Amino acid sequence: MSRLDGHCLCGNVTYTVDTEDPIMTGICHCRDCQRSSGSAYSIIAAVEKADFHVEGDSLKVFDTQGEDRGAPAHRNFCSNCGSPLFSILGDADDIVWIKAGTMNDASWLEPELEAWTTSSQPWAREAEERDTRGYFPRGLDTD
Ligand SMILES: [Zn+2]
Ligand SMILES: [Zn+2]
Repeated sequence: MSRLDGHCLCGNVTYTVDTEDPIMTGICHCRDCQRSSGSAYSIIAAVEKADFHVEGDSLKVFDTQGEDRGAPAHRNFCSNCGSPLFSILGDADDIVWIKAGTMNDASWLEPELEAWTTSSQPWAREAEERDTRGYFPRGLDTD
């Protein structure tokens, strides 16, 4: 059991993680995350793909093409309940970006940075006043 473990809304898709510590935590304000989450942003925790295990026959993938990347984002979701669960970037496919809202307990999570602040909603910018996080007007540099 890891504090990073979680599942979708209906519980059919579950995931477990072999580590307690994410590589990175953050908030993504991109329009694709807003649309797929139906909310202001995604809360994400990155882990090595080798440490990530997912189960559930209703897992499906929808690819989106980001503005800045040559490769698609593989957005994994539960086709039964519609919960977005995690994304894998085609040009950095050894990393899994877990949607932290699906974790069993995300209360410990401290977002370290915010990405795509250029498309953040005016009413969801309060956190940008904090200077403890890094801010990226567009996507993260994963090179
Ligand atoms: Zn589900
Ligand atoms: Zn995003």
